Amino acid sequence: MTDAFDTAREAFEAWRSDFPDDPYSTDHHLDHVNSRYLSEERLAGVREMGSAFGRTVVENLGPLVESYQRHDPELVKFDGIGNRTEEIRFDPAYHEAGALVWASGLLRDAGTPGLSFEQATSFYLASLEGEMGHMCAATCTTGMIRVLRRSASASIRDQYMPALTAVDYGDALRGSQFLTEVQGGSDVGSVASPAIERGDGSWHVSGEKWFCSIADADAFLVLARPEGAASGTKGLGCFIIPRLIDGAPNGFSIRRLKDKLGTMSMASAEIDFENAVAYPIGNVDDGFKIMVTAMLNTSRWMNAVGDVGIMRRAYLEASAYARHREAFGRRIAEFPLVRRQIAQIKAEWMAALHSTWALTSLDEQVDLGTASESDAAFHRYLVNANKLTCSLAATQTVREAVEILGGNGAIETFSVLPRLLRDAVVYEQWEGTHNTLTAQVLRDLGRLDITSTVIDRTAILLKSITEPVLATIASRALAGLDELAAETRRSVEDAGHGAMHFRSTLERLVRGHQIALLLDSAQHPGPLATELAAAASFLVGKYLDRSYRPEYDLAFDQTITELLGTDLD
Ligand SMILES: Cc1cc2nc3c(=O)[nH]c(=O)nc-3n(C[C@H](O)[C@H](O)[C@H](O)COP(=O)(O)OP(=O)(O)OC[C@H]3O[C@@H](n4cnc5c(N)ncnc54)[C@H](O)[C@@H]3O)c2cc1C
Repeated sequence: MTDAFDTAREAFEAWRSDFPDDPYSTDHHLDHVNSRYLSEERLAGVREMGSAFGRTVVENLGPLVESYQRHDPELVKFDGIGNRTEEIRFDPAYHEAGALVWASGLLRDAGTPGLSFEQATSFYLASLEGEMGHMCAATCTTGMIRVLRRSASASIRDQYMPALTAVDYGDALRGSQFLTEVQGGSDVGSVASPAIERGDGSWHVSGEKWFCSIADADAFLVLARPEGAASGTKGLGCFIIPRLIDGAPNGFSIRRLKDKLGTMSMASAEIDFENAVAYPIGNVDDGFKIMVTAMLNTSRWMNAVGDVGIMRRAYLEASAYARHREAFGRRIAEFPLVRRQIAQIKAEWMAALHSTWALTSLDEQVDLGTASESDAAFHRYLVNANKLTCSLAATQTVREAVEILGGNGAIETFSVLPRLLRDAVVYEQWEGTHNTLTAQVLRDLGRLDITSTVIDRTAILLKSITEPVLATIASRALAGLDELAAETRRSVEDAGHGAMHFRSTLERLVRGHQIALLLDSAQHPGPLATELAAAASFLVGKYLDRSYRPEYDLAFDQTITELLGTDLD
């Protein structure tokens, strides 16, 4: 009897100790996508940074994050003698964790265009711990850096940039972005907070902001409506509001901190502004454009990078557990249903990694200002469509991983998965809900006339696949793409049809691109080619080939075996 208990607990120990010490060097798919886009010299730098930071994530960041998860931030509105402070207090370990994330150079890299892969790699590695408390702050601060780089006056840039891009967390300035008001988040044109010019270059911003993450930030970027400005998105201005003026809160009062489903370590608040001193960024009637192009597009890219990191962690947890856990006298990795489910998690993670790294390449070109017209158009499409697909897939993937751990998967102290699941659901909500992203893509396809650009990017890649086995997979994908192209054109031309049906078409369009990227990678000879081809084949069956039935496919078991490689041995 005792033997059985000991054996089961030893299997848990073995599962726990299977987690890699160096999550960059053992992540061959991550290194592969970096190697596809980077010069040898730059790749060597990313490998060195990734290996060092990855080790820190496992050894130091993970345990710190674990230690403060049960300690919510606390709002302290006044000091002991009644001065208004609007301070937010955290468990000290929260700031220790922040120091590790900042020390990776993630924010320093944001200060220089052309380092998107370095940023994506460190963001992905930190996301293995699902530490959205700091990843949200890193995202908002990166967005603020890009907004200031591109649109702020020299004096604002000089004032803020050195601290925004600091590596030392103690010296660093963290930014946040407040758009959402109680009457609407998706409908940004409904923003009603008024801005009044003071005549000395500064403005006064008032009004309520309903969702204010990183409420403890040192500076807030807000959208507000200058007096007399047009209604809708056209009349909005973008302003930077320093948190403190002369050491006191700058015209704001925190109503309360939100009690959230996920990302609980980070403070999200409802904030009232009353004559907060604010400085305009760019033209005051360009606020919406500035926020969308520099801030939201950056956050949507980083949101997807975080999703891929979460998916990688889900895969590591589930595959290691299946290697060690026994049921009915066998390792659960031997049950075909378990193998199939873990293969699915892996295929989803690989697909998200490939589309998000393709997006990272476009992001870098857009940030450098070197993107061609066609690249810029495709970026505009992919940044929205990929965020939708990856954030949905992250939640589904973590849920599948929870299932592999059985009852233990539902226990907070057993694994990181419950926290990852909650954070993944929150990732789905911020920076655009799925429906609003769908509506935006549909609008863009029609308004910018880019349907052909979007379809052709995938079709050209698929048609370039010549290796016979891969070409068979590509031709099945192309057949599915033809059908999607027709559905997309119909959605663009027939507004009523598009409003109801385009979302599923869009999700499958992104899948088509992910499959094309996987096949393109598989065509480059290398040790991962078999896994890449198997992932593409699995996803064609799941998303593009509507006539496909795995139960009638004699090669399906083979696909699962090839996709898993030796991971479950
Ligand atoms: C944890 C967390 C932190 C956040 N932090 C911030 C922050 O720091 N700053 C900030 O500005 N915001 C923040 N948000 C707010 C977030 O950006 C909004 O919640 C989001 O944009 C959606 O807006 P909403 O909640 O008002 O939903 P609504 O806009 O009311 O949408 C409700 C539903 O209607 C659907 N819908 C809306 N419009 C359309 C349409 N045209 N077509 C089809 N369906 C539609 C949506 O998809 C959704 O399903 C945060 C949210 C969360 C959960």
